[in-house]
Amino acid sequence: MKRGLSEREARFVMQTYRRAEVDFVRGEGALLFDDEGTEYLDFLSGISVTALGHAHPELLEAASAQAGKLGHVSNLFFSEPMVDLAERLSVGSIGGPVFFTNSGTEANECAIKVARKHARERGVEQPEIITFDGGFHGRTYGSLSASPKMARDANLGPMLPGFRTVPFDDIAGLEEAFSDRTAAVMLETIQGEAGVFTFSDETLVTARELADRYGALLVIDEVQTGVGRTGSLWSFQQTPVRPDLITTAKALGGGFPIGACIASESLGQVLSPGDHGSTFAAGPVAAAVASRVLDLVDRPEMLRWIREAGRQLTENLLSLDGVESVRGRGLMIGVQLRPGLLAGDLQADLLSRGLITNAPRPDTLRLLPPYTVTAGQVDRASRLIADAVGAAEGQETSG
Ligand code: PLP
Repeated sequence: MKRGLSEREARFVMQTYRRAEVDFVRGEGALLFDDEGTEYLDFLSGISVTALGHAHPELLEAASAQAGKLGHVSNLFFSEPMVDLAERLSVGSIGGPVFFTNSGTEANECAIKVARKHARERGVEQPEIITFDGGFHGRTYGSLSASPKMARDANLGPMLPGFRTVPFDDIAGLEEAFSDRTAAVMLETIQGEAGVFTFSDETLVTARELADRYGALLVIDEVQTGVGRTGSLWSFQQTPVRPDLITTAKALGGGFPIGACIASESLGQVLSPGDHGSTFAAGPVAAAVASRVLDLVDRPEMLRWIREAGRQLTENLLSLDGVESVRGRGLMIGVQLRPGLLAGDLQADLLSRGLITNAPRPDTLRLLPPYTVTAGQVDRASRLIADAVGAAEGQETSG
């Protein structure tokens, strides 16, 4: 890494991240290159963002064609790329209107606002949103308050009132938490940041039934699971439930910042002019790129490949001694390590071997490769993980 870069970062950047000592300067497909020309296999995709790989020619073409025509006008005017994208997202999901944002946390802010307004219109004066332990919905105060672990950080308080937490996948707890005050239940079908934990269909069905009984909404946060990551366009499509609101971001822009909150057709319009807004959201360039992302992802052969590549990776990993189990769906994979192996150490070793992964918890390695990954790259990554696990186990036995 260039001399002085980390010192300047420490001096001029707020220290909210512990960064790995690498300066990536170029990407191509599933590969990244650092400033010394070293090649890495990217099995993290910028935390599920560059889902079509780096420098995808069709995304570059969509961005540059639109940027050369019109880059920004604000949301005070009509914009065809924005309306095209809204129509696509709506028709390809739950059929209602879309609110655009620039990130996942903002998409969830919109969902929280819609849920609260919807509840107040039903006469609920103190609306409450039910969330689950392990859930992660973002860092702005609404989403933060909906993310139980971080919401307990007293240094960041006070949090927004009106959130209630239930243990992960706990049906009895969910039944107990519902009341006439419940505005919504909010969850990720697979909790990504917690370490790739999938809700049971039974809990999802209970959440749907209770929401219907109490007039509340089911909000599914598809920020990490959506846009193909689990092998269907939306993860809820592999479950028995249909949400009232979906939130999405990350892969939607393929690397461009864009997010969205999508309502169901039956929920329809809840927000009115002035209730919500965003200067940048769904600007023409981001919208044009996101539409192209959907063109490329929402194809049976692409979604089939995501499932196949996920199976190949899972089978490879399950054959390793150091791997206890593999969680997740499609190309959203959590590798549960055998006790004694530390995911953080493994991640650092893998980086030095040229494989980018991450460790959401001490016993779990998370893999989020791009959908354009090849079978050869899946095998190469699996061999690198086998080598790193083998080395860690060797150290364990010798040490
Ligand atoms: N929701 C989920 C499920 C996420 O995984 C994340 C980010 O990791 C967010 C929301 C927040 O998204 P963003 O960082 O774009 O605000």
